[in-house]
Amino acid sequence: MSPMSVLTRDEAQTRAKLLDVHHYGIELDLTRGDETFDSRTVIRFTARADADTFVELKPAELRSVTLDGQPLDPETLDGNRLPLEGLTAGEHELRLDTVMHYSRTGEGMHRFTDPTDGETYLYTQLFMEDVQRVFAAFDQPDLKAVFDLTVTAPDTWTVLSNGITEHLGEGRWKAAPTPLISTYLVAVAAGPWHSVRTEHRGLPFGIHCRRSLAPYLDTDADEILDVTRACFDRYHEKFDEPYPFDSYDQAFVPEFNAGAMENPGLVTFRDEFVYRSAVTDTERQTRAMVIAHEMAHMWFGDLVTLRWWDDIWLNESFAEYMGYQTLTEATRFTDTWTDFGVTRKPWGYDADQRPSTHPVA
Ligand SMILES: [Zn+2]
Repeated sequence: MSPMSVLTRDEAQTRAKLLDVHHYGIELDLTRGDETFDSRTVIRFTARADADTFVELKPAELRSVTLDGQPLDPETLDGNRLPLEGLTAGEHELRLDTVMHYSRTGEGMHRFTDPTDGETYLYTQLFMEDVQRVFAAFDQPDLKAVFDLTVTAPDTWTVLSNGITEHLGEGRWKAAPTPLISTYLVAVAAGPWHSVRTEHRGLPFGIHCRRSLAPYLDTDADEILDVTRACFDRYHEKFDEPYPFDSYDQAFVPEFNAGAMENPGLVTFRDEFVYRSAVTDTERQTRAMVIAHEMAHMWFGDLVTLRWWDDIWLNESFAEYMGYQTLTEATRFTDTWTDFGVTRKPWGYDADQRPSTHPVA
């Protein structure tokens, strides 16, 4: 078994010059047991010249691969890289049939069974390179494509993803194809979610959590949705560009590693933000701030995306700035800059004094 390779900036630049990636057709079958799921990917892309390159994946098993209908040897998978050698200039279609592991670490497709009621929930977290644990991809932020997703799951579940996701019946869901987005921003959440749904400015809005937290989400649903609507309207006043996606879902998910993740049209939050006991107004403001921050990313981060990870500082700083400003302007939380001065600035000073500090660009 070869070690996993981390993509370097030079490799990413070389591949971005070579490839124009158009479309991913992804089929996930989430009914294959507790350990693994099936993942089939069809990638359509153009090579601008004759060259060698590679596609990335971290499968439990690579069953088969074809390039333009011709079988490739799955044994050539080297760590997480499948070489595509002797690629000719022009259009190509790559098909991969894989088995993938569920994760228990919040990376890739996380699987959680609620000890309260025994219900199972799945969700993805694909930043920075964990997409490779869910489907095969040319995995770098500047190779954007359309993602077209089909999911097989138990009929009693709800499947959420970036675009509006329709239940076709017989355990099948189909998501509306995304606009051009980066691989790390694709998202799926599947399970018997408790949902509160509404519509705002003609778009479906939803908030979701595991069933055992339903009473707590319901108690705060008005507050969460009020903040969401107010920030949405304020961003529309600030940005010329209309909201770029077809729906806005916010899923509060279990065992999440970060605070939240800005997946286009399906933001995931740690479900500790569904408060189970009395909290201070400062904690409510923190939750509202995270809602505002993630929504800023819909424009800055998701519609417009960093070419490479060295610009993550700008992505995050701008979302932070817009989040604090917008919350102050649009909601009852008008004292947010005090919170910024007390909690965020010392965080920066602390990082700056460490041996690991370095120029941001
Ligand atoms: Zn952010």
